[in-house]
Amino acid sequence: MRQRIAVYGGTFDPVHNGHLKVAEAIVSAFGMDRMLFVPAYVPPHKRGQEITSPFHRMAMLALATAGRERMFVSAIELEAPARPYTIETLQTLRNEWPESQLFFLMGADSFKDMVIWREYERILSEYNVIVATRTGYLAGRQPAEHLDRDLQQRVVDLRRQQLPRPADLTSEHIYLTDYVNVDVSATDVRDAAERGAKIDHLVPPSAAEYIAKYGLYQKK
Ligand code: ATP
Repeated sequence: MRQRIAVYGGTFDPVHNGHLKVAEAIVSAFGMDRMLFVPAYVPPHKRGQEITSPFHRMAMLALATAGRERMFVSAIELEAPARPYTIETLQTLRNEWPESQLFFLMGADSFKDMVIWREYERILSEYNVIVATRTGYLAGRQPAEHLDRDLQQRVVDLRRQQLPRPADLTSEHIYLTDYVNVDVSATDVRDAAERGAKIDHLVPPSAAEYIAKYGLYQKK
């Protein structure tokens, strides 16, 4: 069987329990061999808000994944000279792992927004895509109605369903899943840290320690 690699892209400012619970559920449901967290660089001129240094974001991901056997962090987007688009990152990873099957993992909010992404149709048709539910998203009967008919036909709705049998995952599809629903966002974590409130229930202990130690998300 081909090796399965999930690619979880995002800002991860910071990584939180929502990301980790989703990643764990997807590793076990889809029999992933690897879950690759890929933090985005986000250049200064594209930042609508202050975004934490990529080195801090990467360090927190490294700490959060250290004890999780199949989870890894990749610096692929941080090392790229020009900020790559997701389709380019996926292409690079495919070249790096030609024998593997790649699954791009995203939350349901990103799935709704991705129609403005560069070559999003290619992402949705040339790669397996897994959409994880998120409070307020992926609730209705037609969660893929923002996509054209051809793309809609690729959708495999696994919501309220048994886990897929790993052997069934042969060709490229868009899988809608609701294995876990964790109502946490990075914005919640930053807001709580800024108020001086506890964040231990929102992020893994290593990230909470790191945020406190380096004074991240404090009011300047
Ligand atoms: P922010 O609050 O700063 O917008 P965020 O919590 O959405 O951040 P990102 O790093 O932007 O986190 O998200 C990376 C990916 O993880 C996106 O595809 C997003 O949809 C998904 N994601 C984030 N939080 C959750 C969650 N609680 N449940 C499911 N998916 C999530």
